[in-house]
Amino acid sequence: MANQIRAQLELPFAPLSPRPVVACSTVLDGQAVSYVLHRSHGRRRISLTVDERGLRIGAPLRISMREIETVLREHARWVARKLAEWGEKHRPGRRWESGEILMFLGRPLQLSIAAGTEGVARHESTLLVSTQRAQAENIAALARAWLRAQALSDFAIRVARYRQAMDIEPVDVRLSNARTRWGSCHASGRILLNWRLIQMPARLIDYVVVHELAHLREMNHSPRFWAVVENEIADYAARRREIRRDAHRYIVD
Ligand SMILES: [Zn+2]
Repeated sequence: MANQIRAQLELPFAPLSPRPVVACSTVLDGQAVSYVLHRSHGRRRISLTVDERGLRIGAPLRISMREIETVLREHARWVARKLAEWGEKHRPGRRWESGEILMFLGRPLQLSIAAGTEGVARHESTLLVSTQRAQAENIAALARAWLRAQALSDFAIRVARYRQAMDIEPVDVRLSNARTRWGSCHASGRILLNWRLIQMPARLIDYVVVHELAHLREMNHSPRFWAVVENEIADYAARRREIRRDAHRYIVD
């Protein structure tokens, strides 16, 4: 009874200012997109966040819906891409069972699990994982370790090839496990390449390798930087677009 009274008392109060949190929807590039809008006093700017909960927008309290829509439209492509990435991640996850497909150098690799001495080997388009512990986490760990080892040796060969062609000397090349970057480069001369790149076609890995090496000459994305990249990879712009378009496929664990 007490609960009912409290609930009734709330009804007559209309919000005096825009409600701080409200569910909205809009159409971006022909796609219906719903989002949660958080307004607050403290905010000066509009921020967009996409994560497992979907799109959220943070905004100053008094900003108009029209301004919010304008910002959304300006970032429509980014929003669509991020939502697609999260959509992919939310597909039923990999179960690490026989028959599942991994990607390796742009080609499908079918997982085959067998009982035996722990080890991983590739036979043409099959990745054979043998183990006595067939739990998903163990299979995943073994397959990932194999992919990382392949990545390390594959990237080393590519770096060696391009460092010579470009006459650029990295001091060190390591694998990264970053969630948001394919590669990075440090002023010290160290290059980090994401092990997940090993899933991509070789031509895309080459582009990332060349991109990071080029940063050792130009620590920026100036026309001079792109000229260094283009000198090695004439169609770099197409490869770059391809990576952006397909990135969500390769961000999986
Ligand atoms: Zn860069």
